[in-house]
Amino acid sequence: MVTLHESLGTIYDEVLHRNPGETEFHQAVREVLDSLGPVVTKHPAYTDAAVIRRLCEPERQIIFRVPWVDDQNNVQINRGFRVEFNSALGPFKGGLRFHPSVYLGIVKFLGFEQIFKNSLTGMPIGGGKGGSDFDPKGRSEGEIMRFCQAFMTELYRHIGEYTDVPAGDIGVGGREIGYLFGQYKRITNRYESGVLTGKGITWGGSLVRTEATGYGTVFFAQEILRSRGESFDGKRVVVSGSGNVATYAIEKLQQLGAIVVACSDSSGFVVDEQGIDLELLKEVKEVQRGRICDYVDQRESAELGQGSIWSVPCDIALPCATQNELDDKDAAVLAQNGCTIVAEGANMPCTPDAVRLFSEAGITFAPGKAANAGGVATSALEMQQNASRDRWSFEYTEERLAETMRGIHDRCLETADEYDTPGNYAAGANIAGFTQVADAMLALGV
Ligand code: GLU
Repeated sequence: MVTLHESLGTIYDEVLHRNPGETEFHQAVREVLDSLGPVVTKHPAYTDAAVIRRLCEPERQIIFRVPWVDDQNNVQINRGFRVEFNSALGPFKGGLRFHPSVYLGIVKFLGFEQIFKNSLTGMPIGGGKGGSDFDPKGRSEGEIMRFCQAFMTELYRHIGEYTDVPAGDIGVGGREIGYLFGQYKRITNRYESGVLTGKGITWGGSLVRTEATGYGTVFFAQEILRSRGESFDGKRVVVSGSGNVATYAIEKLQQLGAIVVACSDSSGFVVDEQGIDLELLKEVKEVQRGRICDYVDQRESAELGQGSIWSVPCDIALPCATQNELDDKDAAVLAQNGCTIVAEGANMPCTPDAVRLFSEAGITFAPGKAANAGGVATSALEMQQNASRDRWSFEYTEERLAETMRGIHDRCLETADEYDTPGNYAAGANIAGFTQVADAMLALGV
């Protein structure tokens, strides 16, 4: 671990003390503070106005009970969260995650990351995140609907197009956003399209939003390749996950000529030397709502992998599953096998030790808050279309996304150069994301 600049060390201690046991939040804060030493030295005004200390404390944290009735007529109780982290740049913006691992520390880590990610997009959106410890796995359609309605019955009073705009994340896709939006509309008697993003295209959604996080991650990695005079053509790529982010990362990779040799879900991973059959993967995961082993049963060239997905040799790795899924041992194996780029499609999938190892091994590392910002950037495009009651074409929206990713890529590199860490995308992303929010906070007063 690097030693923190003195004033940042004090802030980090305060974060540990105030948020006991929230290890993922500590990790996310530490990762950002590690980059900010040169910034506080250059700009004492940030310290004088306690900007970083204020940034580390969410503006508002909401925890609520979500009671609902299951198919056996039993009353179930889950816990709901919305952490409204920072609204200096715009209304709080960020997804909702439904997964049994969700607790306040996970929501805070995600909300904290979202502040910098959203700032990097250059769009007027603040940072927030929410979710529930509800496990959608194995639940019927009716149970999912009743849970979403119960969740919104409390959440509705805290959100709004000028206040806080949730979207999807793990366990929350188009279907759940539909049920959530329906309940919001029912309770408020307002067709307020801009209150949620990730909506269906017939009821206020944007084309490309579904594909955006995965496509955006690939566009970001494409910029890295371009800066080396290379392309995706013929490259072997490993993508972890098989949800929304992974699926559309695979789609764009294949369009660009890459061979995606492995993907995964929480039950394991598959290796397919012929390249993943995306139609079959979508059928298994989205239609059959099955597991990755069901893909193997239906595809001759595929086999179930042993050990870690990161042991499958590749040129480029895109972790698109979940936090801390790739550790230092995995990083060492990737380096040994000649991988040269790791771009995060998920939020914080690489552990701090893995990131250190990438740097020692000369692997280019693109952090999630930059590489996966295409999802939330396209949410902002959805909000623009809602505000102007307009609907853009797929081609136009995809070009706006590609342009945004190029912009984020270039800003990371320029900022890394400016602060004497050339080629360090993580430092560039943290500093560029931070300074924009910090300047707005200074301007808006305490
Ligand atoms: N959950 C996504 C993310 O991690 C998208 C958030 C949004 O569109 O608001 O950035």
